[in-house]
Amino acid sequence: MARVAILKCDNYKLDELKTKIEKVFSYFPQVVNADEKILLKPNLLSAHPAEEAVTTHPEFVRAVAKRVKNLGAQVKIGDSPSVPVTKETEKIEKLWEVTGMKKITQEENVELVNFANSGVREFPSKNSFWKKIYLSNIAFEVDGIISLPKLKTHNLMTFTAGIKNLYGLIPGMIKADYHRLAYNPRLFAELLSEILVIIKPRLTIIDGIIGMDGNGPVTGRIRNFGLILASDDVVALDAVVCEIIGLKREYVPLLKFCAEKKLGETNLEKIEIIGEKLESCKIKDFLLPPVHLLSYVPQEIADILTNFIWFRPGIDRTKCQLCMKCFETCPAKAIKRNKKYLWINHKECIKCFCCSEVCPYRAVEIETSLGMKLVRILQSLE
Ligand code: SF4
Ligand code: SF4
Repeated sequence: MARVAILKCDNYKLDELKTKIEKVFSYFPQVVNADEKILLKPNLLSAHPAEEAVTTHPEFVRAVAKRVKNLGAQVKIGDSPSVPVTKETEKIEKLWEVTGMKKITQEENVELVNFANSGVREFPSKNSFWKKIYLSNIAFEVDGIISLPKLKTHNLMTFTAGIKNLYGLIPGMIKADYHRLAYNPRLFAELLSEILVIIKPRLTIIDGIIGMDGNGPVTGRIRNFGLILASDDVVALDAVVCEIIGLKREYVPLLKFCAEKKLGETNLEKIEIIGEKLESCKIKDFLLPPVHLLSYVPQEIADILTNFIWFRPGIDRTKCQLCMKCFETCPAKAIKRNKKYLWINHKECIKCFCCSEVCPYRAVEIETSLGMKLVRILQSLE
Protein backbone atom coordinates (compact mmCIF):
# COMPACT_ATOMS: atom_id res chain seq x y z
CA MET A 1 0.00 0.00 0.00
CA ALA A 2 1.27 3.50 -0.84
CA ARG A 3 2.01 5.78 2.12
CA VAL A 4 1.82 9.55 2.31
CA ALA A 5 2.96 11.47 5.38
CA ILE A 6 1.34 14.77 6.34
CA LEU A 7 2.92 16.99 8.98
CA LYS A 8 1.88 20.41 10.22
CA CYS A 9 4.53 23.13 10.40
CA ASP A 10 3.82 26.84 10.07
CA ASN A 11 7.30 28.41 9.99
CA TYR A 12 10.83 27.96 8.68
CA LYS A 13 12.69 27.93 12.01
CA LEU A 14 15.53 25.50 11.50
CA ASP A 15 15.13 23.61 14.79
CA GLU A 16 11.48 22.92 14.08
CA LEU A 17 12.18 21.99 10.47
CA LYS A 18 14.91 19.56 11.54
CA THR A 19 12.48 17.81 13.89
CA LYS A 20 9.83 17.53 11.17
CA ILE A 21 12.26 16.32 8.52
CA GLU A 22 13.66 13.74 10.96
CA LYS A 23 10.09 12.53 11.42
CA VAL A 24 9.65 12.26 7.65
CA PHE A 25 12.78 10.11 7.36
CA SER A 26 11.56 7.92 10.23
CA TYR A 27 8.46 7.18 8.13
CA PHE A 28 10.60 6.34 5.09
CA PRO A 29 13.79 4.89 6.62
CA GLN A 30 15.13 3.05 3.57
CA VAL A 31 15.44 5.93 1.13
CA VAL A 32 19.09 6.89 1.76
CA ASN A 33 22.12 4.69 2.44
CA ALA A 34 25.54 5.71 3.72
CA ASP A 35 28.12 6.68 1.06
CA GLU A 36 25.50 7.31 -1.61
CA LYS A 37 25.38 10.48 -3.72
CA ILE A 38 21.97 12.12 -3.35
CA LEU A 39 20.65 15.00 -5.43
CA LEU A 40 18.26 17.32 -3.65
CA LYS A 41 16.06 18.90 -6.29
CA PRO A 42 14.19 21.95 -5.01
CA ASN A 43 11.93 24.10 -7.18
CA LEU A 44 14.20 26.98 -8.27
CA LEU A 45 11.87 28.37 -10.89
CA SER A 46 13.36 31.84 -11.12
CA ALA A 47 15.30 34.38 -9.09
CA HIS A 48 12.88 35.25 -6.29
CA PRO A 49 13.70 35.60 -2.60
CA ALA A 50 12.30 32.98 -0.23
CA GLU A 51 9.55 35.24 1.15
CA GLU A 52 7.89 35.43 -2.29
CA ALA A 53 7.05 31.70 -2.07
CA VAL A 54 8.04 31.03 -5.68
CA THR A 55 10.90 28.67 -4.84
CA THR A 56 11.47 26.01 -2.20
CA HIS A 57 12.52 27.76 1.02
CA PRO A 58 16.31 27.54 1.60
CA GLU A 59 15.90 26.57 5.27
CA PHE A 60 13.67 23.68 4.19
CA VAL A 61 16.37 22.52 1.75
CA ARG A 62 19.00 23.00 4.48
CA ALA A 63 17.05 20.83 6.95
CA VAL A 64 16.86 18.00 4.40
CA ALA A 65 20.54 18.41 3.44
CA LYS A 66 21.55 18.14 7.10
CA ARG A 67 19.50 14.96 7.55
CA VAL A 68 20.87 13.30 4.41
CA LYS A 69 24.44 14.18 5.43
CA ASN A 70 23.79 12.74 8.90
CA LEU A 71 22.80 9.50 7.21
CA GLY A 72 26.31 9.40 5.72
CA ALA A 73 25.41 10.35 2.16
CA GLN A 74 26.98 13.00 -0.06
CA VAL A 75 24.60 15.83 -1.00
CA LYS A 76 24.32 17.79 -4.23
CA ILE A 77 21.67 20.44 -4.79
CA GLY A 78 20.40 21.63 -8.15
CA ASP A 79 17.55 22.49 -10.46
CA SER A 80 17.18 23.86 -13.96
CA PRO A 81 15.23 27.08 -13.69
CA SER A 82 13.07 28.81 -16.29
CA VAL A 83 14.92 29.33 -19.49
CA PRO A 84 16.79 32.64 -19.70
CA VAL A 85 18.56 32.39 -16.35
CA THR A 86 20.50 29.34 -17.50
CA LYS A 87 21.94 31.00 -20.59
CA GLU A 88 24.89 32.53 -18.81
CA THR A 89 26.82 31.33 -15.81
CA GLU A 90 26.54 34.64 -13.97
CA LYS A 91 22.76 34.48 -14.25
CA ILE A 92 22.50 31.08 -12.56
CA GLU A 93 24.87 32.45 -9.92
CA LYS A 94 22.45 35.31 -9.34
CA LEU A 95 19.54 32.88 -9.04
CA TRP A 96 21.42 30.80 -6.48
CA GLU A 97 22.17 33.95 -4.51
CA VAL A 98 18.66 35.43 -4.60
CA THR A 99 16.93 32.15 -3.73
CA GLY A 100 19.24 31.61 -0.75
CA MET A 101 20.80 28.43 -2.17
CA LYS A 102 24.31 29.86 -2.37
CA LYS A 103 24.30 30.74 1.33
CA ILE A 104 23.02 27.41 2.59
CA THR A 105 25.25 25.31 0.34
CA GLN A 106 28.32 27.28 1.47
CA GLU A 107 27.34 26.94 5.12
CA GLU A 108 26.49 23.24 4.81
CA ASN A 109 29.51 22.54 2.59
CA VAL A 110 27.50 20.83 -0.14
CA GLU A 111 27.80 21.17 -3.91
CA LEU A 112 25.46 23.29 -6.04
CA VAL A 113 25.18 21.83 -9.52
CA ASN A 114 24.38 23.62 -12.77
CA PHE A 115 22.30 21.34 -14.99
CA ALA A 116 22.98 23.53 -18.02
CA ASN A 117 26.71 22.63 -18.00
CA SER A 118 26.33 18.93 -17.39
CA GLY A 119 25.13 17.47 -20.68
CA VAL A 120 21.99 15.47 -21.36
CA ARG A 121 20.90 11.90 -21.73
CA GLU A 122 18.48 11.03 -24.53
CA PHE A 123 15.51 8.66 -24.17
CA PRO A 124 13.14 7.50 -26.91
CA SER A 125 9.43 8.34 -26.69
CA LYS A 126 6.52 6.88 -28.62
CA ASN A 127 4.82 10.27 -28.61
CA SER A 128 4.87 11.67 -32.16
CA PHE A 129 5.00 15.30 -30.95
CA TRP A 130 8.29 15.13 -29.11
CA LYS A 131 9.74 11.65 -29.99
CA LYS A 132 12.63 11.99 -27.52
CA ILE A 133 13.10 13.06 -23.94
CA TYR A 134 16.30 14.77 -22.81
CA LEU A 135 17.19 14.79 -19.13
CA SER A 136 20.21 16.24 -17.36
CA ASN A 137 23.15 13.87 -16.91
CA ILE A 138 23.29 14.89 -13.26
CA ALA A 139 20.13 12.92 -12.55
CA PHE A 140 21.98 9.74 -13.57
CA GLU A 141 25.34 10.52 -11.97
CA VAL A 142 23.82 10.32 -8.49
CA ASP A 143 22.48 7.25 -6.70
CA GLY A 144 19.11 8.82 -5.98
CA ILE A 145 17.02 11.97 -6.06
CA ILE A 146 15.08 13.57 -3.24
CA SER A 147 12.64 16.00 -4.77
CA LEU A 148 11.73 19.11 -2.77
CA PRO A 149 8.84 20.88 -4.54
CA LYS A 150 6.94 23.97 -3.46
CA LEU A 151 3.15 23.66 -3.16
CA LYS A 152 1.71 26.16 -5.63
CA THR A 153 -0.90 26.63 -8.29
CA HIS A 154 0.24 26.60 -11.91
CA ASN A 155 -1.41 28.40 -14.80
CA LEU A 156 -0.71 25.58 -17.25
CA MET A 157 -1.05 22.48 -15.05
CA THR A 158 -3.44 23.81 -12.35
CA PHE A 159 -1.04 22.87 -9.56
CA THR A 160 2.64 22.09 -9.18
CA ALA A 161 3.80 19.61 -6.56
CA GLY A 162 5.67 16.29 -6.79
CA ILE A 163 5.43 15.17 -10.42
CA LYS A 164 5.68 18.63 -12.00
CA ASN A 165 8.87 19.33 -10.02
CA LEU A 166 10.63 16.69 -12.15
CA TYR A 167 10.28 18.93 -15.23
CA GLY A 168 13.33 20.80 -13.92
CA LEU A 169 15.42 17.72 -14.78
CA ILE A 170 15.18 18.92 -18.38
CA PRO A 171 17.95 21.49 -18.75
CA GLY A 172 17.76 25.04 -20.05
CA MET A 173 16.40 25.92 -23.47
CA ILE A 174 15.19 22.36 -24.12
CA LYS A 175 12.31 23.06 -21.73
CA ALA A 176 11.06 25.81 -24.03
CA ASP A 177 10.98 23.36 -26.96
CA TYR A 178 8.87 20.92 -24.97
CA HIS A 179 6.43 23.69 -24.13
CA ARG A 180 6.00 24.26 -27.86
CA LEU A 181 5.57 20.53 -28.60
CA ALA A 182 3.35 19.68 -25.59
CA TYR A 183 1.18 22.72 -26.19
CA ASN A 184 -1.87 21.98 -24.05
CA PRO A 185 -2.29 20.76 -20.45
CA ARG A 186 -3.17 17.22 -21.51
CA LEU A 187 -0.10 16.82 -23.73
CA PHE A 188 2.07 18.40 -21.06
CA ALA A 189 0.67 15.97 -18.49
CA GLU A 190 1.58 13.09 -20.80
CA LEU A 191 5.11 14.45 -21.15
CA LEU A 192 5.50 14.67 -17.36
CA SER A 193 4.29 11.09 -16.99
CA GLU A 194 6.94 10.00 -19.51
CA ILE A 195 9.65 11.68 -17.44
CA LEU A 196 8.40 9.74 -14.43
CA VAL A 197 8.70 6.50 -16.39
CA ILE A 198 12.41 7.25 -16.87
CA ILE A 199 13.25 8.52 -13.43
CA LYS A 200 11.50 8.33 -10.07
CA PRO A 201 12.56 10.26 -6.98
CA ARG A 202 13.34 8.06 -4.00
CA LEU A 203 11.45 10.46 -1.80
CA THR A 204 9.48 13.66 -2.39
CA ILE A 205 9.04 16.16 0.43
CA ILE A 206 6.78 19.09 -0.42
CA ASP A 207 7.42 22.50 1.11
CA GLY A 208 3.77 23.36 1.70
CA ILE A 209 4.50 25.61 4.65
CA ILE A 210 4.12 28.88 2.78
CA GLY A 211 2.87 28.29 -0.75
CA MET A 212 0.74 29.96 -3.36
CA ASP A 213 -2.79 29.75 -4.76
CA GLY A 214 -4.60 31.75 -7.45
CA ASN A 215 -2.49 32.68 -10.47
CA GLY A 216 0.62 30.69 -9.58
CA PRO A 217 3.40 29.77 -9.98
CA VAL A 218 4.71 33.35 -9.60
CA THR A 219 1.96 35.94 -9.38
CA GLY A 220 -0.55 34.14 -7.16
CA ARG A 221 -1.53 34.75 -3.53
CA ILE A 222 1.09 33.85 -0.95
CA ARG A 223 -0.57 31.58 1.63
CA ASN A 224 0.52 29.98 4.87
CA PHE A 225 -0.74 26.41 4.37
CA GLY A 226 1.37 25.12 7.25
CA LEU A 227 1.98 21.70 5.69
CA ILE A 228 4.81 19.33 4.87
CA LEU A 229 3.84 16.34 2.73
CA ALA A 230 6.08 13.41 1.86
CA SER A 231 6.03 10.06 0.12
CA ASP A 232 8.19 7.59 -1.74
CA ASP A 233 5.27 7.33 -4.21
CA VAL A 234 5.12 10.73 -5.90
CA VAL A 235 1.86 9.89 -7.70
CA ALA A 236 0.11 9.02 -4.43
CA LEU A 237 1.54 12.22 -2.99
CA ASP A 238 0.04 14.36 -5.77
CA ALA A 239 -3.29 12.52 -5.43
CA VAL A 240 -3.34 13.52 -1.76
CA VAL A 241 -2.36 17.10 -2.69
CA CYS A 242 -5.41 17.23 -5.01
CA GLU A 243 -7.63 16.18 -2.13
CA ILE A 244 -6.09 18.85 0.11
CA ILE A 245 -6.53 21.70 -2.39
CA GLY A 246 -10.02 20.64 -3.49
CA LEU A 247 -9.16 19.46 -7.01
CA LYS A 248 -11.21 16.53 -8.29
CA ARG A 249 -8.69 13.79 -9.02
CA GLU A 250 -10.76 12.25 -11.82
CA TYR A 251 -10.34 15.50 -13.81
CA VAL A 252 -6.56 15.71 -13.44
CA PRO A 253 -4.93 14.41 -16.66
CA LEU A 254 -1.55 14.09 -14.94
CA LEU A 255 -2.91 11.51 -12.47
CA LYS A 256 -4.78 9.73 -15.26
CA PHE A 257 -1.61 9.25 -17.36
CA CYS A 258 0.37 8.14 -14.32
CA ALA A 259 -2.33 5.64 -13.36
CA GLU A 260 -2.45 4.25 -16.92
CA LYS A 261 1.31 3.75 -16.86
CA LYS A 262 1.09 2.22 -13.35
CA LEU A 263 3.56 4.77 -12.01
CA GLY A 264 1.94 5.04 -8.61
CA GLU A 265 -1.29 4.97 -6.66
CA THR A 266 -4.10 7.43 -7.37
CA ASN A 267 -6.88 5.68 -5.45
CA LEU A 268 -7.16 7.28 -2.00
CA GLU A 269 -8.58 4.07 -0.56
CA LYS A 270 -5.27 2.41 -1.33
CA ILE A 271 -3.13 5.17 0.19
CA GLU A 272 -2.28 5.07 3.88
CA ILE A 273 -2.07 8.55 5.40
CA ILE A 274 0.44 8.83 8.21
CA GLY A 275 0.95 11.75 10.59
CA GLU A 276 -1.93 14.22 10.51
CA LYS A 277 -5.47 13.29 9.50
CA LEU A 278 -6.19 14.22 5.89
CA GLU A 279 -9.52 15.83 6.79
CA SER A 280 -7.86 18.29 9.18
CA CYS A 281 -5.42 19.46 6.48
CA LYS A 282 -7.85 20.29 3.68
CA ILE A 283 -7.57 23.91 2.53
CA LYS A 284 -11.21 24.91 2.15
CA ASP A 285 -10.63 28.28 0.49
CA PHE A 286 -7.84 27.23 -1.91
CA LEU A 287 -8.15 29.37 -5.03
CA LEU A 288 -7.50 27.34 -8.20
CA PRO A 289 -6.27 29.09 -11.38
CA PRO A 290 -8.60 29.50 -14.42
CA VAL A 291 -7.02 26.57 -16.31
CA HIS A 292 -8.58 24.00 -13.96
CA LEU A 293 -12.01 24.82 -15.42
CA LEU A 294 -10.86 23.45 -18.77
CA SER A 295 -10.36 20.01 -17.20
CA TYR A 296 -14.15 19.70 -16.93
CA VAL A 297 -14.53 20.34 -20.67
CA PRO A 298 -13.53 17.53 -23.09
CA GLN A 299 -10.61 18.62 -25.31
CA GLU A 300 -12.70 18.34 -28.53
CA ILE A 301 -15.34 20.69 -27.10
CA ALA A 302 -12.73 23.07 -25.70
CA ASP A 303 -11.20 23.21 -29.22
CA ILE A 304 -14.61 24.10 -30.75
CA LEU A 305 -15.38 26.72 -28.08
CA THR A 306 -11.95 28.25 -28.27
CA ASN A 307 -13.31 31.72 -29.15
CA PHE A 308 -15.73 31.64 -26.23
CA ILE A 309 -13.85 29.93 -23.41
CA TRP A 310 -10.32 31.17 -23.10
CA PHE A 311 -7.72 32.49 -20.74
CA ARG A 312 -4.46 33.97 -21.89
CA PRO A 313 -1.46 35.97 -20.77
CA GLY A 314 -1.48 39.74 -21.12
CA ILE A 315 1.35 42.21 -20.46
CA ASP A 316 0.53 45.05 -18.09
CA ARG A 317 2.45 47.93 -19.63
CA THR A 318 2.32 49.92 -16.40
CA LYS A 319 4.34 47.19 -14.64
CA CYS A 320 6.58 46.05 -17.52
CA GLN A 321 10.22 47.18 -17.19
CA LEU A 322 11.21 45.96 -20.68
CA CYS A 323 13.76 43.52 -19.22
CA MET A 324 12.99 41.22 -22.22
CA LYS A 325 13.08 37.99 -20.21
CA CYS A 326 9.65 36.96 -21.50
CA PHE A 327 10.65 37.89 -25.05
CA GLU A 328 13.76 35.69 -24.84
CA THR A 329 11.84 32.81 -23.26
CA CYS A 330 8.66 32.58 -25.32
CA PRO A 331 8.89 29.20 -27.12
CA ALA A 332 6.31 30.28 -29.74
CA LYS A 333 7.95 33.67 -30.42
CA ALA A 334 4.51 35.16 -29.79
CA ILE A 335 5.80 38.19 -27.89
CA LYS A 336 6.37 41.17 -30.14
CA ARG A 337 8.15 44.42 -29.45
CA ASN A 338 8.68 47.93 -30.57
CA LYS A 339 10.86 50.58 -28.95
CA LYS A 340 8.29 51.45 -26.29
CA TYR A 341 6.46 48.27 -25.28
CA LEU A 342 5.82 44.54 -25.76
CA TRP A 343 2.61 42.80 -26.71
CA ILE A 344 1.44 39.23 -27.27
CA ASN A 345 0.16 37.94 -30.58
CA HIS A 346 -2.58 35.69 -29.21
CA LYS A 347 -2.89 33.76 -32.47
CA GLU A 348 0.69 32.54 -32.02
CA CYS A 349 0.60 32.12 -28.22
CA ILE A 350 0.42 28.48 -27.03
CA LYS A 351 -0.48 29.47 -23.45
CA CYS A 352 2.48 27.82 -21.80
CA PHE A 353 2.74 30.79 -19.37
CA CYS A 354 6.54 30.69 -19.40
CA CYS A 355 6.35 34.49 -19.78
CA SER A 356 4.51 34.74 -16.48
CA GLU A 357 7.04 32.40 -14.81
CA VAL A 358 10.08 34.40 -15.81
CA CYS A 359 8.78 37.95 -15.39
CA PRO A 360 10.56 39.43 -12.36
CA TYR A 361 8.08 42.32 -12.13
CA ARG A 362 4.79 40.35 -12.11
CA ALA A 363 3.81 42.22 -15.25
CA VAL A 364 2.29 39.21 -17.04
CA GLU A 365 -1.29 38.80 -15.97
CA ILE A 366 -4.00 36.28 -16.79
CA GLU A 367 -6.93 37.54 -18.85
CA THR A 368 -10.11 35.44 -18.95
CA SER A 369 -13.07 35.52 -21.35
CA LEU A 370 -16.67 36.09 -20.28
CA GLY A 371 -17.35 32.45 -21.21
CA MET A 372 -14.63 31.32 -18.83
CA LYS A 373 -16.14 33.42 -16.05
CA LEU A 374 -19.49 31.74 -16.75
CA VAL A 375 -17.91 28.26 -16.55
CA ARG A 376 -16.42 29.26 -13.19
CA ILE A 377 -19.83 30.28 -11.88
CA LEU A 378 -21.44 27.04 -13.12
CA GLN A 379 -18.66 24.94 -11.65
CA SER A 380 -19.01 26.65 -8.25
CA LEU A 381 -22.71 25.73 -8.25
CA GLU A 382 -21.95 22.04 -8.90
S1 SF4 B 1 3.29 34.58 -24.90
FE1 SF4 B 1 3.69 33.59 -22.95
S2 SF4 B 1 2.14 32.00 -22.80
FE2 SF4 B 1 2.19 32.66 -24.93
S3 SF4 B 1 3.57 31.21 -25.90
FE3 SF4 B 1 4.79 32.99 -25.29
S4 SF4 B 1 5.60 32.45 -23.26
FE4 SF4 B 1 3.92 31.02 -23.70
S1 SF4 C 1 6.61 41.60 -19.17
FE1 SF4 C 1 8.02 41.17 -17.49
S2 SF4 C 1 9.53 39.79 -18.37
FE2 SF4 C 1 8.47 40.76 -20.06
S3 SF4 C 1 9.74 42.50 -20.56
FE3 SF4 C 1 8.15 43.22 -19.19
S4 SF4 C 1 9.07 43.11 -17.17
FE4 SF4 C 1 10.35 41.88 -18.51
